Amino acid sequence: DRTGPAVPQTTIFTVMSALALEHRAVNLGQGFPDESGPARVIEAAAAAMREGRNQYPPLAGVPELREAIAAHQRHWYGLEPDVDDGVVVTAGATEAVAAAMLAFVRPGDEVVAMEPFYDSYKASVELAGGTIVPWRLEAPAFRPDLVRLKEIVTDRTRVLLLNSPHNPTGTVLDRAELEAVARVAAERDLLVVTDEVYEHLVFDGLAHVPFASLPGMWERTVSIGSAGKTFSVTGWKIGWATGPADLVGRLKGVKQYLTFASGTPFQYGIAEALASGPEFYEEYVADYAERRDLLASGLADLGFTVHRPQGTYFVTAGAAPLGYADGLALCLELPERCGVVAIPNQVFYADPATPRPEVRFTFCKPREVLEEGLKRLRDGL
Ligand code: PMP
Ligand code: GLN
Repeated sequence: DRTGPAVPQTTIFTVMSALALEHRAVNLGQGFPDESGPARVIEAAAAAMREGRNQYPPLAGVPELREAIAAHQRHWYGLEPDVDDGVVVTAGATEAVAAAMLAFVRPGDEVVAMEPFYDSYKASVELAGGTIVPWRLEAPAFRPDLVRLKEIVTDRTRVLLLNSPHNPTGTVLDRAELEAVARVAAERDLLVVTDEVYEHLVFDGLAHVPFASLPGMWERTVSIGSAGKTFSVTGWKIGWATGPADLVGRLKGVKQYLTFASGTPFQYGIAEALASGPEFYEEYVADYAERRDLLASGLADLGFTVHRPQGTYFVTAGAAPLGYADGLALCLELPERCGVVAIPNQVFYADPATPRPEVRFTFCKPREVLEEGLKRLRDGL
């Protein structure tokens, strides 16, 4: 018998990026920027390599990076993770999510996650023997339904897996929503794992509020971040988890047997990146806000129902007005027909086989690439 836990053998990102190459399409699917991050960040990693920092880092990450992560959380949010026991560097946010699920979820446990959800969540929960329970953000507004949250939490619920800013919808939970979630977490004594990899991509003057900063939540929360998005180095796979020593310690216990540790020179590069002054972050978010406007307006002009994102670098667009009830079929057709790649939102649902009209386009691309993508859609649709 060669069967094991049933996780998809190929993710949607692999499928769609392969189609992009095959059809030389404008790839607005998988979220990776075309340009590398700041030169001084690249140089810091290259210098670390030249200086011979090429062997295993400590399990928790090099001290310089752990200090930079803690300083970043202090500066932006007033949080004070312990540099030695409250911070662990991971192989991207993906490993942090997987390690957290393997550390906290026992067979038969339930994990409540905002749906649609990033595809690794369901796989990670199921690899741990748990079940994902979707907390649906309903189209077209994609706001959380807090009454519904109370209904779906059961005695078997172990973890609440949050994601704000939210991939793929771009929803940013506001303080009142987070406080309502916090009340449920406290009443039902839940652990909270919060994926905040898009923390610096919040538009329109809104603020990112880390869940761990809410009164009483620090002790039950593991926060997950990633350098890939903020510093445009998705291939470096440097992420982290922070929180109270007991929770981070259990996550580290699992991580020892996943990768143990990874990416020494990149860790030095990200330590340098996190020391960026406020002007870096201001420019970053202003630049992305312009690209969001370009893509969101362009898609609306083409007739899509556009959900204008408050954060992340994704736009969720409904294709029903264009005559498509099935976004997956549309996404499979688009590369050949228009030379454009997008991601069908339906793959981010607990039941990925039910057709949905929404598709996700990324704007982490130069303006001219976004304009070319829109032009091709205009000509081909
Ligand atoms: N969480 C979310 C919500 C994401 O969008 C992504 C990347 N697409 C990840 C986690 C994975 O991050 P990393 O590349 O650092 O593993
Ligand atoms: N996080 C990226 C996205 O949502 C893709 C990551 C991946 O390829 N697994 O597009």
